[in-house]
Amino acid sequence: MNLCDIKTIKQVMAMFSLNFRKEFGQNFLTNNMVVEDIADNCCTHANSTILEIGPGIGSLTRELSLRYKNVVALEIDHGLIPVLKYTLHSCHNVKVINEDVMKADLDTILAPYFAEGPVSVCANLPYYITTPILMKLLESTLPFEYITIMIQSEVADRLCATPGDKNCGAITSVLNYYGQPENLFTVTADNFIPAPKVDSSVVRIKLHREKPYNPVDEATFFRTIRASFEQRRKTLPNSLASVFGELSKEELIEIIVKCGYEPTIRGEKLGVADFVTLSDEIFARIKDKK
Ligand code: SAM
Repeated sequence: MNLCDIKTIKQVMAMFSLNFRKEFGQNFLTNNMVVEDIADNCCTHANSTILEIGPGIGSLTRELSLRYKNVVALEIDHGLIPVLKYTLHSCHNVKVINEDVMKADLDTILAPYFAEGPVSVCANLPYYITTPILMKLLESTLPFEYITIMIQSEVADRLCATPGDKNCGAITSVLNYYGQPENLFTVTADNFIPAPKVDSSVVRIKLHREKPYNPVDEATFFRTIRASFEQRRKTLPNSLASVFGELSKEELIEIIVKCGYEPTIRGEKLGVADFVTLSDEIFARIKDKK
């Protein structure tokens, strides 16, 4: 059965009396080559376990199961569970779990697989919840090797931007703190049913095994990043002042200059290493005042 064939997708959905659920971001892939490309490129080791988020009717799941040791697929829509049982009946290395990834206890679910070898994530993510899912995966501190996600191209551009780029946002620096993103390829909207309004891109993130950046205080580091991008049109001292009420604007200017930046600089010009330097200095100054 070709699970990317539009006629087959419609037949399978009809067989189980299902409609595409917009509230779950259900846009299923209709191009075998795209599915195979994602499966080929999401990970380097055949002995890996792949956590798939949102298997849909199982097109990507099946390709992953052919290439990797295990696939654990989390699907929120209980209506799709019997469909997956049907479409994946011959894939004995796939475990389908009917759960919302945002509520799932990934540590417990994945512990037996981490004990066996590397684990990576691969997903054609629902648009409505891309960033929260990505943040959950990154903040979980689970030692994933790669996270490969298909997302809106506009979000992909933000994730893969370089400092100074107009697409650069807080998420760019946060992501680069955890790993190295790479924009692999674009998939136009006509490769999905129903077709979304925008094109998608596949981004692969190689997680740092050892973090190259070590801020003294992670909370201050993330707060500094958030503050620097919150009001994009403001200069850095003004943006920081609106979040770090513990410090005066004069003190913040002093800190910025001490770190080697012009006080007129904007947050989007800074990279992860700059945010470490800046947040370490802010943290030290706040501590001194206590
Ligand atoms: N993997 C399939 C494909 O590529 O054709 C379907 C991808 S579709 C964009 C997103 C899938 O994620 C849907 O099957 C949807 O039901 C599922 N989903 C949406 N929100 C979810 C959540 N919070 N947890 C788990 N799955 C979710």
